[in-house]
Amino acid sequence: MAIWIKPIPRGPQSQPTQGRKTTMHRQALIVGGGIGGLCAAICLRLTGWDVQVFEQAPEITEIGAGLQISPNGVKILEHIGVMERLEPAVFEPEAIEIRMGVSGRPILYLPMKGVAAQRWGARYLQVHRADLITALSARLDALQPGAMQTGCPVRGYAPCKDGAEVILANGRRIQADLVIGADGIHSRIRHQMLGTDAPRFTGNYAWRALVPAAQLGALAPPPSGCIWAGPKKHAVTTYVRGGALVNFVGIVEQRTWREESWSRTGDRQEALADFNGWAPPLLAILEQAEVLHKWALFDRAPLPKWQDGHVMLLGDAAHPMLPSMAQGAVQSLEDGYHLARVLGAAVGPDIVAACARHYAQRIDRSSRVQRVSAQNLQLFHKSSRLAQLMAYAPIWLAGQLTPSLVHRRSDWLYGAPVPPLNI
Ligand SMILES: Cc1cc2nc3c(=O)[nH]c(=O)nc-3n(C[C@H](O)[C@H](O)[C@H](O)COP(=O)(O)OP(=O)(O)OC[C@H]3O[C@@H](n4cnc5c(N)ncnc54)[C@H](O)[C@@H]3O)c2cc1C
Repeated sequence: MAIWIKPIPRGPQSQPTQGRKTTMHRQALIVGGGIGGLCAAICLRLTGWDVQVFEQAPEITEIGAGLQISPNGVKILEHIGVMERLEPAVFEPEAIEIRMGVSGRPILYLPMKGVAAQRWGARYLQVHRADLITALSARLDALQPGAMQTGCPVRGYAPCKDGAEVILANGRRIQADLVIGADGIHSRIRHQMLGTDAPRFTGNYAWRALVPAAQLGALAPPPSGCIWAGPKKHAVTTYVRGGALVNFVGIVEQRTWREESWSRTGDRQEALADFNGWAPPLLAILEQAEVLHKWALFDRAPLPKWQDGHVMLLGDAAHPMLPSMAQGAVQSLEDGYHLARVLGAAVGPDIVAACARHYAQRIDRSSRVQRVSAQNLQLFHKSSRLAQLMAYAPIWLAGQLTPSLVHRRSDWLYGAPVPPLNI
């Protein structure tokens, strides 16, 4: 299913400002209007910056995709005034579960509803990516009308006196105090800053599908974030649109990726063959989904820097990761929020120093998330009975005897403090 978000019309206010204003009116130019770029724009705007977001897509097209937003992300959405807009679209799962993909036998049932807010200060939520983007864009537009321009691809950047400039695809150059590359895994800004090496294929591709929950009837998956583990593949089922839609992600190992395009519509028979013999709720989704999307999963090793003077990277441009921790979007929210906090009232050279502090304070955490995401994938893909028993029996036992110990393992991630922005 394709969801179309109406482009924000170009009006007089949405024209990029030529030249820079005084340092009292600090300007930031953000390349990419995804979750990371929009969050950064909102946070900077809230802390007194004038912002412009350049999004290459003429309109933001969203293929069926659910996101889990853990409490560390929800806290940020609350602080920046996005949560109230998003509220009608979210789903709060009862638990995070791990099950055997074929038999459906439970390995872990970790309660989340009620527990997450109490333990980590915010709920654990599931949401459609299009709904999150819509809520972020609406918030940004309310703070600074016309701040995002669609159909505006960026070619690169260049340093300039006391700042940097963005070079649009049409050759136009616009100066600012700060340029942010939030342009995703295939980031042009990152290429220019760090070289043209391509992101690495992780040896996995992902199926994604959405099906109305009512249509699945008794075969609807449990109302949780449910991970279905199996040899060399796993699936995740979640709910979005307030619980009206079931979201499916199926991750399958494959040595090489030969498709020229990194995203394509997949073949139903191929998806059913991938999950042949798996639990009935999963097969029902694959049988009933209107469209199945299939694309390759890429990541990168942690980067030695995210900064070139007044130019900063964030989100997938800085630290792309496997989705097996459901943290890519959440980490991009953390990036934008943290950067705005660290920048505070900085002007001129202090902006460069603040960006360096941002990297120094964020790199360990985002690298750890990248690392654990890759480890989780190995955990969910155990092949032999023995490997499954050795990996899953202790998890099952811990979940039965001391669920709070299992919750505690996520304290470093979900429970990280989110101090208010200095607005
Ligand atoms: C199968 C799957 C499941 C996932 N599940 C989760 C989950 O449950 N929870 C979670 O937190 N994360 C999840 N993620 C990760 C998440 O989707 C990404 O980490 C997140 O979207 C990154 O946001 P971003 O803003 O950095 O980049 P993007 O979302 O890629 O946005 C970049 C934007 O920049 C634009 N752009 C690119 N180049 C240019 C240019 N030259 N000029 C102008 N604009 C440009 C693009 O059009 C795009 O809009 C999942 C990912 C996958 C693949």
